[in-house]
Amino acid sequence: MKKIISRIGLLLTLLLTVVTLSACSSSASQKNVLRDDKQTKTITWGVKADTKLFGLMDVRDNQIKGFEIDLAKAMTKQILGKDGKARFIQVTSQTRMPLLRNGNIDAIMATMTITPQRAEQVDFSRSYFDAGQAILVKNGSPIKNVRGLNHKGAVVLGVVGSNSVQNIKKFAPKAKVLQLSDYSQALTALKSGQGDALTTDNGILYGMSIENPGYSVVGGTFTKEPYGIAVDKGQGKMRDAMNEALTKVENSGQYNKLLYKWFHKVKGFDFKGAER
Ligand code: GLU
Repeated sequence: MKKIISRIGLLLTLLLTVVTLSACSSSASQKNVLRDDKQTKTITWGVKADTKLFGLMDVRDNQIKGFEIDLAKAMTKQILGKDGKARFIQVTSQTRMPLLRNGNIDAIMATMTITPQRAEQVDFSRSYFDAGQAILVKNGSPIKNVRGLNHKGAVVLGVVGSNSVQNIKKFAPKAKVLQLSDYSQALTALKSGQGDALTTDNGILYGMSIENPGYSVVGGTFTKEPYGIAVDKGQGKMRDAMNEALTKVENSGQYNKLLYKWFHKVKGFDFKGAER
């Protein structure tokens, strides 16, 4: 009997140790990003660097520039105060989620659509920009809209990790989809004739057509792509701070100023309709 009692005692002690250890390790991985960023006075954002108008590396001064960069800077000041700093790390459609989940970045602001599948892995702010998927073709192309791509032999170019390559399969199921690793490579592939069209969001495609007047966005949008800021699961305080900061930036008129700065000259983009 004594033996049994001491064995039960031993088992209970072991169980307690396991429970305590697992509680410790989960609280260690559960860092509080908002609190840490307030201490360091820095928010580390994952942004695009291959996407004109939203986030594009300027090789002359090595700075990433675009609407999302300016919005991230404005929101950083709202959250951390005047001396708060925004630090930018380049991401692609493929790397943004892993970089966030590994803790390399605090938030993603990188043309990322809020989708139910992604919301299982990350938490989203409310939408800060409403885009829609479209296609870019060479001027004079016989393809006038997404339906024109729905035949065997048609090749559509897209980027790994974007939902555009998934969506296109619904709208042009017969076309072959070629996935490149980022948008500059996808554009190079289109220009060298490796595909009939490039598909992603209209705003991104407008950025490409500004630089390459021989290419146009055709056929309008065929999906809704609301962009959200993503934070890691468990960082609800950070997500709330993002939503609050976005509201302040919108209410102060700063949001519309930035929209004007980046989009008022973009042919075909309804920047008045996008104002908040
Ligand atoms: N908004 C789409 C997405 O989140 C396409 C743009 C992108 O690749 O970032 O996948």
